[in-house]
Amino acid sequence: MMATVVRTKEEIRRLVAAARAEGRRIGFVPTMGALHMGHRALMEQAVAENGFTVLSVFVNPTQFGPAEDFDAYPRQLEADVALATEVGVNVVFAPRADEMYAPDHSTWVQEESLSEGLCGARRPGHFRGVATVCMKLFNIVRPDRAYFGRKDYQQLQVIRRLVRDLDVPVEIVPVATVRDGDGLAKSSRNQYLSSDERRAALAIWRSLKQASALIIGGEKSPRAVADAVRAEIVREGVLRVEYIEIVHAETLEPIAPLEGPILVAVAVHCGSTRLIDNIVVDAPATA
Ligand code: AMP
Repeated sequence: MMATVVRTKEEIRRLVAAARAEGRRIGFVPTMGALHMGHRALMEQAVAENGFTVLSVFVNPTQFGPAEDFDAYPRQLEADVALATEVGVNVVFAPRADEMYAPDHSTWVQEESLSEGLCGARRPGHFRGVATVCMKLFNIVRPDRAYFGRKDYQQLQVIRRLVRDLDVPVEIVPVATVRDGDGLAKSSRNQYLSSDERRAALAIWRSLKQASALIIGGEKSPRAVADAVRAEIVREGVLRVEYIEIVHAETLEPIAPLEGPILVAVAVHCGSTRLIDNIVVDAPATA
């Protein structure tokens, strides 16, 4: 059976309430659509773990900066519904922007610590938009579990903190990053890449694996790791580094010497496309 597509809050609430009344657990996968195998992994896990799964497809205007790709962002609802159906998703919630935001919307959810660095420092207002839309979606769908990819590691941490700090009754389930066979992390923005750009972009994952090997091998200096990552990336002329951050994987704060769970996160511009990726590595204790 095709997944049901609903456009209104009223209808999604009704369908979820009916499923809950039957004793089903509600799984939820929030996305901006243009679904790929990364989203598929989230949906599959949600379907496996819950009796009723809701996918949301909403290109959230409030998380894009004025100079970002909101208008150009790929939209392909029909294909998204087909994939969701194949995986066993019950309902696709695809609201229009005016269903989600009143013209005089004026309330925001702002996480004030984990959002500060990495992407937050370069995309002002981004995590405020993400946190606000997720809070709204949690309140509309009221899922038992919500699934988020580690590909957007900072986003995952911000949402976990939001749920903890505001006592939102949902379990956040992290899902491993899905990659192409050659290592490029799946992203809706990969469709923007020319074949030369795509080839160059492979340096991102290569550089992260190199960082991982260095840290596991005992490198304690974040600067040395960052330099190695940068060298690997800039060897590809097409790539421009926006940031390379080496931080504690839980606090997202700088840490030196490297010890414990370490996040190596990068944002790279590949032509006009911005790509992010990361790896978490356990740094051995200092001897
Ligand atoms: P987006 O549609 O880009 O907002 O992403 C929706 C969800 O899919 C987020 O939780 C992302 O972290 C997750 N996601 C995106 N790409 C991947 C990937 N390659 N592997 C795993 N999860 C992903």
